[in-house]
This record gives sequence, C-alpha cells and structure tokens, in this order.
Amino acid sequence: MAEKIWLSSPHMGTNERTFVEEAFDTNWIAPLGPHVNNFEADLQTYVGVGQAAALSSGTAALHLGLILLGVKQGDYVICQSMTFSASANPIVYQGASPIFVDSELETWNMCPYALEEAIQAAINGTLTDKNGETLPARKPKAIIPVHLYGMPAKMDAIMAIAKQYDIPVLEDAAEALGSHINNKCCGGFGQLGVLSFNGNKIITTSGGGALLSNDASVIEKARFLATQARDQAPHYQHSHIGYNYRMSNVLAGIGRGQMQVLDERVAARRSNYERYCAFFENIEGVEGVDEPKGYFSNRWLSTFTINPEKTGGITREDVRLALEKDNIEARPLWKPMHMQPVFENMPYFGKNVAEKLFENGLCFPSGSNLTEADFKRIFTVLKQLFSK
Ligand SMILES: *Cc1c(COP(=O)(O)O)cnc(C)c1O
Repeated sequence: MAEKIWLSSPHMGTNERTFVEEAFDTNWIAPLGPHVNNFEADLQTYVGVGQAAALSSGTAALHLGLILLGVKQGDYVICQSMTFSASANPIVYQGASPIFVDSELETWNMCPYALEEAIQAAINGTLTDKNGETLPARKPKAIIPVHLYGMPAKMDAIMAIAKQYDIPVLEDAAEALGSHINNKCCGGFGQLGVLSFNGNKIITTSGGGALLSNDASVIEKARFLATQARDQAPHYQHSHIGYNYRMSNVLAGIGRGQMQVLDERVAARRSNYERYCAFFENIEGVEGVDEPKGYFSNRWLSTFTINPEKTGGITREDVRLALEKDNIEARPLWKPMHMQPVFENMPYFGKNVAEKLFENGLCFPSGSNLTEADFKRIFTVLKQLFSK
C-alpha cells in the first residue's frame, strides 16, 4: 500500500524544537511562562488586535468567549450552521440554545439575510423549533460567524447587522489565521475572536487555541477564568467558577516557532489550491470558491464542489473513494449543524445552501508539506477518474 497522503498534517519549521528545548532547559514545564507571553505577543502583532490569551483549545476559547459575553441558561446564540461542531457545542455548555443560520454561495459562510431573519424571529417571538413549538421571544445574546476553510465571511454585512441590533459577534477564526479582508485580519472583526492550533490547522501547537479582543479588560478576565478563577490571596480563594483552559509553556514554544513560518504556510496552501484549480479548469462541473474583491483566504483546505449533473455522473463520493483506494485522504465538507442528530430540533434559517454544499463538496489533500510526488499521485487518480 502506498504511503498515506493526509488531508492536512502538521508541518514544523526549524525553531519549534529550539523553543521547546528552551522550556526544558529553564524547567518552564507548566501552564503559563515566557513562551506563552511571547506567543501571545506574536499573535497580537500578526492579527493586529489589542490582546490575545493563549488557551488549551479553540473550543475553550469559544466557551470562554460566550461566558464573557454573558451567555446563560435559556439564551439564544446565533451560529453558522455549516461548521465544525466545536463552534456550536459551547453554546450548549452554557445551557443556551443555538439558532442555526445558512450559508451564502459566495464564501460558503453565514448568509447576512438569513442572519437578520433569525434575529427578527427571535425578537418577535415567531421562533419555532422543528416540531413547530413556539419558543419564547428574546434577543439573541451573540452571533458566531465562521471563516470556513480560511475564506473570510461577509464581515461587513454581518457586523452592520450586529451593530443595528446591538448583538456582540464572537468570530470563529479557527480555520482562518492568515486570512484577511482589505488587509484586516480574520479574528479581529468581532468583539471577540477565536483561533485554533489543533494538529490539522494551518499552524499547530499540537493542541491549543486563543481568544482575541481589543478590549484588554475582557482578555484579562479570560486569563483569570482560564486559570481556575483564583482571587488575589495567599490561600486559594474563589468568588467565581473557574476553568483550566490555559496553554502550556511547552506548547507555546511550538507556537512561537510556527508563527515564524506562518506566511510560508499560507503561501504553500494557496499554491495547493491554484494547482487544483489548474487541474480542474477543463473539467466541467468541478468548481472552487473564488475570493470576492479584497478578500484573501489562507486556503487552509482546498475545497471544490462536484456537480454530477455536469461531470457525467461522477459524484463527490466517487472522487473521495477513488482517492481513498490509493490511500489518499479527502473529506466531505462539514456536515451542517442543523442536519446533525444532536442539534436536529434547533431552529434553522435559510434556503438549504449548506445542505447542497455538503452533498457536493469535497476537501482535497491540502497540507503545506505536500510533495511533488504526492501531487503526482493525487492527479494520477483524478485523471483516471475524470477521463472515463
Ligand atoms: C478546529 C475548529 C474549532 C475548534 O478548535 P479546537 O482547537 O480543535 O478546539 C472551532 N471551530 C472551527 C470552525 C474549527 O475548525
């Protein structure tokens, strides 16, 4: 069997190991420490936000973000339906209820029209669950847009609606470090932004995340809650429920090394996408996602839709299975949250754009460490399939 080609695997640079060794040499093998402070400073500078708190995961960052926005039992939080479950799960951790919103076709992210419909229904008391039960009228407490696969969401329109209704935005930029709109970085648009450094993301600390904001007092509070909410006292004193969500100094060392190569990683991923585009250029029915004017995607994953009505019957599953046969990993797009058994009964607004994308969309191998030999294997399989 040929060696496995992964969808998106970790890609270390040269200095990650040096920083980790430094942590060992100085015995900073603990949560917090100088690498954490420096990694946070790197993130602040890169994204152009006032403050960043390095945390144990992107999920932890989303959870703390909701807590800091005051989301509680019985509240509504509006969330993009087409995303990874980690965008929505923390809403339920807080005892709140998600309202799911469809995607638009240009970026595959939150549709501003469906967003406004959802807000109005929640406020007017016309919100119903899937069984037709009317839900109480209440203004949503937060909006969670996502920049899927690195493509920025329509933040101008989303932020304008959020402002109009005075609802804070918790921006899930877990997949979009290095992406921007008119040079403003993803993660810096909302009141709060979230990054992830999980093993499959554009840069990784093996596991980790960050919460970003221009409001220093909010991030100070995030750091407090993330370290067990310890009050100032010689003994252990607590007046809040805390969490153990801080990043380890060892892992922040990996993060510092990864920040030095981030722009190279973005360039490599963008070049992957261009290669797929060039290949599919003359194949009817396979389409990528163009960047709208002023948009810059880190192209975390190279994603395409495969329309069997135009490909002569070839479906995304045919493509996925042909690649799998040669030990090459490809995956369908995220299955929308409103289609997930666990969220089945939650309200949903939209026109089933996300459902259609899920049906036809595929993520191709996208690592920044793919070799010429890897691409040769990928394109050999694809050529064989599409020349039939
Ligand atoms: C990866 C991811 C997360 C969660 O990040 P973790 O660090 O894995 O907890 C959240 N949202 C999206 C869209 C993601 O892709």
